[in-house]
Amino acid sequence: MNVATRSLEQIRADFPILQRRVRDNKPLVYLDNAATTQKPQSVIEALTRFYSHYNSNIHRGVHALSEAATEAYETARKKVQTFLNAAHSHEIIFTRGTTESINLVALSFGSRFLEDGDEVLLTQMEHHANIVPWQLLQRFKNIKIKVIPITEEGTLDLNALDTLLTEKTRLLAFTHVSNALGTVNPVKKLIRWAKENGLYVLVDGAQAVPHLPVDVQDLQVDFYVFSGHKIYGPTGIGVLYGKTELLEAMPPYQGGGDMIKRVTFEKTLFNDLPMKFEAGTPNIAGAIGLGAAIDYIQQVGYDFIQQQEQQLLDHATRLLSEIPEIKIIGTAKEKAAVVSFVCEGVHPHDIGTLLDLEGVAVRAGHHCAQPVMDFYGLSATVRASFAFYNTMEEVEYFVQALKKAIRFFKR
Ligand code: PLP
Repeated sequence: MNVATRSLEQIRADFPILQRRVRDNKPLVYLDNAATTQKPQSVIEALTRFYSHYNSNIHRGVHALSEAATEAYETARKKVQTFLNAAHSHEIIFTRGTTESINLVALSFGSRFLEDGDEVLLTQMEHHANIVPWQLLQRFKNIKIKVIPITEEGTLDLNALDTLLTEKTRLLAFTHVSNALGTVNPVKKLIRWAKENGLYVLVDGAQAVPHLPVDVQDLQVDFYVFSGHKIYGPTGIGVLYGKTELLEAMPPYQGGGDMIKRVTFEKTLFNDLPMKFEAGTPNIAGAIGLGAAIDYIQQVGYDFIQQQEQQLLDHATRLLSEIPEIKIIGTAKEKAAVVSFVCEGVHPHDIGTLLDLEGVAVRAGHHCAQPVMDFYGLSATVRASFAFYNTMEEVEYFVQALKKAIRFFKR
């Protein structure tokens, strides 16, 4: 057994759920990591420790528990700051997840920085979370949504950029990595183009941070958002990174406790960043759990993550390409460890159901990216998405189970 294999075994042992058996005692082969990742013991313990040792509300109490909870919550914020290399910890706003972060920006940034007639540039490969909030903003502002098209391989058609740009274009909002296709977008190039043309930029990093390091200062991005549960942390916690000058100029998104300095019936004075955007009791345990997840990722290291996931992606792509009935959807050169595919004559949901009977968890559906499905003339795909804890043997088991499913439907 070589060192890499041994360390992978040790890594897998960190995730209790990976030892589970499902469906008539079959080993769980979890390939639905783009939907949510599994949690290492250290994250589970951080949550348990919070609730069993220092559960308390934050920023308010003078007692020991409240002090400990506040310190742990603010330490988690600092961990996120370091993780993204943000210039200040107050640029990190805790939200419920990517979805809430984008809704916050659409409504708050949109109300302050966008005017009737302004244009927002999205892409054909966005998750619904980066489409619908901009449509909701249209109830209040007469903004126009324009869409950067994609090519057959599932990359952005960059030739269209200059054609789509007008003097009314204000914001470019796009996904760093596509959840439905796996495409890694040329984020630096897109931001450079946007900045050269005076646009604000929001990047949806939900599918990027699990796979690659992000440096918001190096990117010079205005807003970067992600979800805790996709990077081995808890559900219900996420992050909005925003540049100080923008966050300061933006109005609060929600009103309530913690986001104020002084309230009278006539007037309210809002709190400073980051509290201005964190109304009410936040997900304290979730933030602390996210901090533990970041510690864990940094301990594993992106070098290992990228190397392992690239091997899994290459192996899965090669084996799937050898099956005549399978067509891979999304064949960009730069891809994260996600393989979407369809199978001639069999509905994706039927494939998903038969794989499940073998203990293999994949996703079948539109992946909350219906415009992507529309582009390919599909209603759904099967998606296998890998994490660094997956093994080559699991890839092979999945492909064998898929072949068995295809044989079943061909009978
Ligand atoms: N954006 C992308 C690219 C995603 O893949 C997802 C989730 O699948 C989201 C946004 C929404 O994330 P959440 O449901 O955690 O808010």
